[in-house]
Amino acid sequence: MENLFRLVDNQDFFNNRRNILINGPIIIGAGPSGLATAACLKEQGVPFVVLERADCIASLWQRRTYDRLKLHLPKQFCQLPKRPFPEEFPEYPSKKQFIHYLEDYANHFGIKPQFNECVQSARYDETSGFWRVKTTTTSSESGRSEVEYICRWLVVATGENAECVVPEINGLSDFSGEVEHACEYKSGEKYKGKKVLVVGCGNSGMELSLDLCNHNALPSMVVRSSVHILPREIFGKSTFELAVLLMAWLPLWLVDKLMLFLSWLVLGNIEKYGLKRPTTGPLTLKNTEGKTPVLDIGTLDKIKSGDITVVAGIKRFTSNQVELVDGEILDIDSVILATGYRSNVPSWLQLGLQGEGFLVLPQMP
Ligand SMILES: Cc1cc2nc3c(=O)[nH]c(=O)nc-3n(C[C@H](O)[C@H](O)[C@H](O)COP(=O)(O)OP(=O)(O)OC[C@H]3O[C@@H](n4cnc5c(N)ncnc54)[C@H](O)[C@@H]3O)c2cc1C
Repeated sequence: MENLFRLVDNQDFFNNRRNILINGPIIIGAGPSGLATAACLKEQGVPFVVLERADCIASLWQRRTYDRLKLHLPKQFCQLPKRPFPEEFPEYPSKKQFIHYLEDYANHFGIKPQFNECVQSARYDETSGFWRVKTTTTSSESGRSEVEYICRWLVVATGENAECVVPEINGLSDFSGEVEHACEYKSGEKYKGKKVLVVGCGNSGMELSLDLCNHNALPSMVVRSSVHILPREIFGKSTFELAVLLMAWLPLWLVDKLMLFLSWLVLGNIEKYGLKRPTTGPLTLKNTEGKTPVLDIGTLDKIKSGDITVVAGIKRFTSNQVELVDGEILDIDSVILATGYRSNVPSWLQLGLQGEGFLVLPQMP
């Protein structure tokens, strides 16, 4: 099989780089999307190569998520094509179960990504109609090497969470306590008894605040602007599923109104806890700006009980305090930046003029 798709594999002596011609698509990224694409190609007998910068599949889930994480959406919305989740999996599989499922999926379809290969650039050559994909590989035996792959088709499956967003905040470098990004956070155990400032109120910020609370830390969560919080379930039915059902029959604006009304019935008025809602509805916001609403899994109760404090945006840090834009000053021991992620595609993808040879994969919800 190797020989089938590696038609030419030669060494470019001037650049100390190998050139490899691939007879089939290259898939960049071995997360759920890359694996799903690979499985579908495999079933059609199409040869392909998967390039992955990490040393494992689903590196986001294996390396950069916290211990208590469970899928936020019911399992039927997260399973990959051609191989459902095992029957015995719960409605919201744990991170461990999800990883186990993905590993089994890759094994089942015989998907063997090339690990430790990070794509540095992918350029579409209009004259030849081929993609030229440059990677750097790091291995303990041979050190660092460069490869250029040449192929007709390119599938970009590097996700929306490839890089952590770390905002510039006044004085953060002067802060003497521990600062970590949500992608490094594993559990609240080490924060027991500490005053922790969680910057950001998306799904990660909300869940980490809850986890900190459950480990007897004292979290304050920064809510700089507005946020849509919806219950994970409405009267026993998944909110996401309900929204999907309604969207098949009703216009988006009306579904937004219904979802907000139902959320109000379940959660009450969240604005009195400092959680201002955006003026645009949750689904319209997701559609237009890609902002995912928060699905509450218990954080709101902790906010209502005062175990998690909601605070205003940050003005500046000093060595052991933070000053907020409303003038309040808090003593803090640690900071967790739940400030999100971004794609790295713009830094390495160079499309042809017409965007040829390029297929954009839909994200998991
Ligand atoms: C904390 C957290 C919780 C989440 N919870 C859920 C949830 O409950 N349900 C849900 O549906 N989604 C959830 N998500 C969203 C998540 O994006 C999806 O679950 C899923 O991982 C997306 O799959 P993907 O394959 O598109 O991207 P990813 O899983 O991000 O995989 C992309 C892969 O590409 C690799 N890569 C990136 N750049 C390069 C490069 N230049 N060269 C080579 N390889 C590269 C990465 O190492 C990675 O392995 C969550 C995300 C986070 C951060």
